[in-house]
Amino acid sequence: MHFQLDPDTVAYRDEVRRHLAQAMTPEFEERIYRTGVSHDDDFAKGLVDEGYFAPRWPVEFGGQNRGAWDEQVLREELMRTDAPMYLSETTRMVASIIRAVGTPTMKDRILGGAMKGDITIALGFTEPECGSDVAAATTRAVRDGDFWIINGSKMFTTNGHIADYVFLLARTSPDKPKHKGLTMFLVPLDSDGFEAQGVWTLSGERTNITFYSDVRISDEWRIGDVDAGWHVLGMSLQDEHASGWGPHITRLLHHVEQWAATTPAEDGSPQLTKTDVRRRIARVAMEDEVSRLLLRRCIWMTETGQTPFAEGPMSKVFSTEALVRASQDIAEMVGPDGVRSYFEPTAPEGGRFEHLMRFSLGTTIYAGTSEVQRSIIAQRGLGLPR
Ligand SMILES: Cc1cc2nc3c(=O)[nH]c(=O)nc-3n(C[C@H](O)[C@H](O)[C@H](O)COP(=O)(O)OP(=O)(O)OC[C@H]3O[C@@H](n4cnc5c(N)ncnc54)[C@H](O)[C@@H]3O)c2cc1C
Repeated sequence: MHFQLDPDTVAYRDEVRRHLAQAMTPEFEERIYRTGVSHDDDFAKGLVDEGYFAPRWPVEFGGQNRGAWDEQVLREELMRTDAPMYLSETTRMVASIIRAVGTPTMKDRILGGAMKGDITIALGFTEPECGSDVAAATTRAVRDGDFWIINGSKMFTTNGHIADYVFLLARTSPDKPKHKGLTMFLVPLDSDGFEAQGVWTLSGERTNITFYSDVRISDEWRIGDVDAGWHVLGMSLQDEHASGWGPHITRLLHHVEQWAATTPAEDGSPQLTKTDVRRRIARVAMEDEVSRLLLRRCIWMTETGQTPFAEGPMSKVFSTEALVRASQDIAEMVGPDGVRSYFEPTAPEGGRFEHLMRFSLGTTIYAGTSEVQRSIIAQRGLGLPR
């Protein structure tokens, strides 16, 4: 087992870095920050043009046949630069599921457009009354000949106000056990009866509560068999749970190193010379390294034919909780200036310390909360009972 990148992957990573350095201008970053929307059409199309949308996909589907490590460094760089990539990620995730289980008609309609950046897809799993226990979904889809009538509401449908479709979890058989009465649909968001209302999180991210009032869609928009939704959904949850957030720690480390090298302490010498500063920065560096290795272990396992059932959640829990720890520790060290916000010209490192502290909290919630991830580790990794 080795986690060093080979020279080709390093060259690919450098290419990605060059592209992002050009695309992520300060003006662009500020616009993204002000809207709170984790997507920008031109930026996403730029990724598509460079072949960065789904580099691992086969060439015949518009990919580049690249390996898992190339895809991994791409994801690391996008996260490290805080690029607005969430809608591209959810689109790619759902496109992969359609590629695996979609009908030929669905593949024809969606895959080409998604690969060109012309079609985007948001995720509609969570409801106002259920998130972790997502199988308790109550949004109903009732069959009406060749159509389905959908009624209900979903919480946290991030990008639901701008996406073309939502990958929707709906209850089709309320009389069956909860995991066995669910079906997945791809709902066109220009359908009558759909509405998205903005919700802003602590970190300023825009997400949505979405309403479905007699939304009528053709059966052609069903993904997988009727009542087989839990299986189809599992394909995307596995993808989400195997994530790691370490590159945001790398970002924090970069900013704090820069701050320490350029900011004088009370005696006039750089902060970098102070023991407490060095101690805290070293701690962030260690957690950054462990987060990276835990994530790369998942890639290595996937590459060698293993499924990181417990290792994915380990990577997610560790990296997100380390990000919370590290961002709070650094804000405390920087002092009152550290909580100056993004728009204040005098904020150190452009206000990244304050923003990272707020941003970090959400990372322990979405894609499965820390508590839920710990249960998965206990059951699937350690074989403990439910
Ligand atoms: C910014 C943001 C973006 C999001 N984007 C999307 C999106 O695009 N699409 C989408 O569908 N969802 C999205 N989500 C929803 C996210 O997946 C849920 O918030 C998450 O799954 C938790 O569900 P919940 O909020 O209903 O909390 P709950 O499930 O109600 O949990 C509340 C608390 O109870 C704990 N808890 C719950 N069950 C257990 C258990 N069995 N054992 C121990 N503790 C437990 C949780 O850990 C948590 O601390 C997003 C969330 C956020 C914050």
